[in-house]
Amino acid sequence: MNIFSIARYMLPMTRYPYSGGVVPCPVCGERSFAPVAGIDRRLKRLPTVMCNRCGLFYTNPMPTESELGTYYEKYYRFDYQLASTKPKQKHILKRQREALGRVQQLQGLLPDGARTLDFGAGSGEFITMMLEKGYDAHGFEPGETYATHAIEQLGARMRQIGWQEADFGPEFDLVTSFHVFEHLSTPLPALQRIARWLKPGGKVYLEVPDTAEWFARKGFGSLHFAHVLGFNQGNLTLAAAKVGLRPLKVVSPTGIIFEQGAVEDQDAHAASGLATSRQLTAIGPASRYLTHQLSKFGLSGGAKA
Ligand SMILES: [Zn+2]
Repeated sequence: MNIFSIARYMLPMTRYPYSGGVVPCPVCGERSFAPVAGIDRRLKRLPTVMCNRCGLFYTNPMPTESELGTYYEKYYRFDYQLASTKPKQKHILKRQREALGRVQQLQGLLPDGARTLDFGAGSGEFITMMLEKGYDAHGFEPGETYATHAIEQLGARMRQIGWQEADFGPEFDLVTSFHVFEHLSTPLPALQRIARWLKPGGKVYLEVPDTAEWFARKGFGSLHFAHVLGFNQGNLTLAAAKVGLRPLKVVSPTGIIFEQGAVEDQDAHAASGLATSRQLTAIGPASRYLTHQLSKFGLSGGAKA
């Protein structure tokens, strides 16, 4: 480990070590955007913008995929040093609770023994829970630490690969992805793959952090280099619509089970995403951050957005 290269991801008020490039909106393709914040929760310089069409928050200039890969390799290893050989027990218990809640949301929506795939399966708790319910559950995960742990538990049901290498046929009744898409600089090609892996009648269950909730509460304190995209309900629904998926069941604002089918009015979802983001950015990220920090010490009226 080179401490000097790690420090470049840590030192406040400095830029992250990436060059990247200015990109159009990764969901709707719009080229115009408005600045949202210039720093993140570590007080490092990180340019976050809002798409002027669908309201997606995204890092712009956007790191390239290889720059993001370097970050995960170095920074994540540092941040989770103690977990670098296997996931922590506390983490596994939390994931098991989340997995159970998600499995319950799927009740009644899948055929008996349905074949399922978890995209970015982490340490594999969702797959284990699905197997216990009698499903033919599979998954993949690029991160070595978690994938190794999951492969020990699940064998060939789990693979250590990235989505670009994943080469499934149209064989799944359900593809799930929990808290993965906020990390991807190119969400649409990833969603296109997912759509191709579905059998006729297949479903997709996507969940990402809700920017509308986190940014409202913490301002720039919610922003994080690893989260290159910040979705709300409107632009998450729009992203799915672009690959022929429409909402079947809204579990939470940004936790949605989709089915195959065209969305007639994509513009309406873009407009709703934009309206949500405009409301959020009407109060500055710094004042939201300060209000949140003060409320931790009981020093404000606890203003909530
Ligand atoms: Zn957009």
